Amino acid sequence: MPLHKTDLHASLKKYFGFSDFKGLQEDVITNIVQGNNTFAIMPTGGGKSLCYQLPALIQEGTAIVVSPLIALMKNQVDAIRGISSHHGIAHVLNSSLTKSEVKQVKQDISDGITKLLYVAPESLTKEDYVDFLKSVKLSFIAVDEAHCISEWGHDFRPEYRNLRSIVDRLNPTMAIIALTATATPKVQEDILKNLGIPEAKTFKASFNRPNLYYEVRPKTADVDSDIIRFVKKNAGKSGIIYCLSRKRVEQLAQILQVNGVSAVPYHAGFDAKTRSKYQDMFLMEDVDVVIATIAFGMGIDKPDVRFVIHNDIPKSIESYYQETGRAGRDGGEGHCLAFYAYKDIEKLEKFISNKPVAEQEIGSALLQEVVAYAETSMSRRKFMLHYFGEEFDEVNGEGADMDDNIQNPKEKQEAKDDVVKLIRTVKETSE
Ligand code: ADP
Ligand code: MG
Repeated sequence: MPLHKTDLHASLKKYFGFSDFKGLQEDVITNIVQGNNTFAIMPTGGGKSLCYQLPALIQEGTAIVVSPLIALMKNQVDAIRGISSHHGIAHVLNSSLTKSEVKQVKQDISDGITKLLYVAPESLTKEDYVDFLKSVKLSFIAVDEAHCISEWGHDFRPEYRNLRSIVDRLNPTMAIIALTATATPKVQEDILKNLGIPEAKTFKASFNRPNLYYEVRPKTADVDSDIIRFVKKNAGKSGIIYCLSRKRVEQLAQILQVNGVSAVPYHAGFDAKTRSKYQDMFLMEDVDVVIATIAFGMGIDKPDVRFVIHNDIPKSIESYYQETGRAGRDGGEGHCLAFYAYKDIEKLEKFISNKPVAEQEIGSALLQEVVAYAETSMSRRKFMLHYFGEEFDEVNGEGADMDDNIQNPKEKQEAKDDVVKLIRTVKETSE
């Protein structure tokens, strides 16, 4: 196996056309190629896919890639097929395939052509697939979006809990690669525990986004005017405004349009054609602003989004980080402005109260963190990074002054109280 630096770089260039690895990619890949269990935690856009794709391409056998969304799998398979002359180099195995398609997939794997086999976790429980995969040469299993295994993650999927027992049936010594953009210590612990890889080497990239400016403003009855004023001040720039409800999305879109802002609404209530029309209008810059529910954003990669406004505070810090993370992808300016009223928290709590008890507890613990973030008078960046288990130097750290609390400090005593609060939550969450 090529373990030399130069070999990995050559493969990077050959398969992906890139000259350099991003962040921790090279360390992660080296560890995988050595056959070790590996845990990679990197923010969205950090380049996690390549961490398993490259080792899969250069190793013997087929790598199984577990991923929760069919659309994401298809995108990746198409991309991999684009870099090879062999269509069979990557496949998706799922229930929508015809018998003859399944046969072809199996043939390509048996022939050693298929380097990456994408599967949804539920497909992996099919006896027929398990029996077949047991009989072929596998390189490793990559568990993408590994936070789906944890109830503390933002996207719990019970089927992910079966993965350990499936691996045991396929080949208990096969290396497991877990990847996620969720950095909270609780979720990380859950991932390692449920996959049965406590000793896996963990690679964690920094979650700091130094070019993003974080600001929270009280949400008053006049929030419409506040938003209009902000958007007008940033005329011509691309921005996303997130709202909790579809109704509010449509209302706010109208209000902005009436006020001369070029804007479109976006939510899952529109049919697919309308949704993709509005999305394209935003991507092609026919409009400046999209007003959306959280349905908007998955896989949207517009590098020059200059602001993300939250008309409603989201249900967790992770969600807030993900959603604001769509600003300033190109490294340029990115203003993250959240409007906050405790009333909205009560709304979210009501929403949670319809769920099973265990989910309620988790949901309200996550909400309490959001309250603490919104009400803090300390560095918001420090708060957020601390939540992700990362130390941040609020004086000299990168982007330290990109923060309303630093630009306009509140009373000292208030800030002190916040530190005490923070220490308390850290103690509680680390228990
Ligand atoms: P993640 O899964 O961590 O959110 P992706 O795997 O989707 O991130 O990668 C995000 C983007 O970064 C993709 O467009 C990918 O092509 C790009 N990318 C990955 N690695 C590199 C690299 N070494 N150099 C340049 N671009 C890269
Ligand atoms: Mg990914």
